[in-house]
Amino acid sequence: HAKDGGKNRFSLFSHGMQEEVHYRLMIQRDLEPAILDNQLIIYFQPKVLAETGEVAGCEALVRWQHPEEGFLTPDKFIPYAEETPLIREIDYYVIRECCKKLKEWAARFDKPVPIAVNLSGRHFRSFKIVEVLKEAVASAGISPDLLEIEITEAVLIADPDKAQKVVHAIKSIGFTISLDDFGTGYSSLNYLRTLPIDIIKLDRSFIANIDTSEQDRRLTRGITSLAKGLDLTMVAEGVETESQLQTLLDLGCHCFQGYYFSKPVPETEFLAWHKKYNNALGNNHKVG
Ligand code: C2E
Ligand code: MG
Ligand code: MG
Ligand code: MG
Repeated sequence: HAKDGGKNRFSLFSHGMQEEVHYRLMIQRDLEPAILDNQLIIYFQPKVLAETGEVAGCEALVRWQHPEEGFLTPDKFIPYAEETPLIREIDYYVIRECCKKLKEWAARFDKPVPIAVNLSGRHFRSFKIVEVLKEAVASAGISPDLLEIEITEAVLIADPDKAQKVVHAIKSIGFTISLDDFGTGYSSLNYLRTLPIDIIKLDRSFIANIDTSEQDRRLTRGITSLAKGLDLTMVAEGVETESQLQTLLDLGCHCFQGYYFSKPVPETEFLAWHKKYNNALGNNHKVG
């Protein structure tokens, strides 16, 4: 990307409030045309299963090729989009594109590769998202169990009762529900009581120091057995090194996502990675 080396947004934040206000307004102004003009790009990052080494699925992570600002990662625009209803349009776009990909991919893979999409908390104030999801899988002609819905505790902030009903409605169609950034919120355990969760994704802040922190190892071991006891799949996020992977395997984790396997990459790169990875697997390569 030609503009990657250009204006650096980190310097902006150190320049103070006024630039930030200006940047926010620009981002919010440019979002709507961006969606219409296909400037959003979906990257994919694999999840891998310990037992078999197989690819368990992938996560869709959006990026924005901005006409003047260059290639933007989510931290440069998602927080600003979250302040407006446009975040919902971004998520609708990602949902629809991923359903189309799932249809295209079906013929390529021996084993289906589900895609996980991230949903903003702003969807859970109405049932519109339920209709959008239904319509997206129906028009792509795919089964809803191929699409995973990642939510965070933000879903319950505005109206917990309503949000709970919306999540249950999504689940009842057959989508898999994943609780993202687990362990970082105030009431993670309460979520497990009130929401129909299938997967928890242990936040990468637990993994970052797992080799050096006995505390983090103990917490991770505890959360892993909690997940097992509740029949939930647990995914360890942000696995970057062989050593972290080995520690996590020793703690009983069985599903992983992180740079160690692959960074989020464009579709063609993801498909190439998948092929190469599966070939290696065929030659008796196993995780850990
Ligand atoms: P998330 O859903 O928790 O996604 C995981 C983030 O961790 C991604 O950042 C991913 O690139 C990063 N990551 C994965 N493995 C590693 C690793 O080994 N080390 C490190 N240091 N980082 C790793 P990314 O792509 O910048 O996305 C950031 C956040 O933006 C996501 O966090 C998600 O909350 C949000 N986001 C991304 N795409 C969408 C979207 O389509 N809709 C909505 N509403 N939010 C999105
Ligand atoms: Mg996520
Ligand atoms: Mg996460
Ligand atoms: Mg996150």
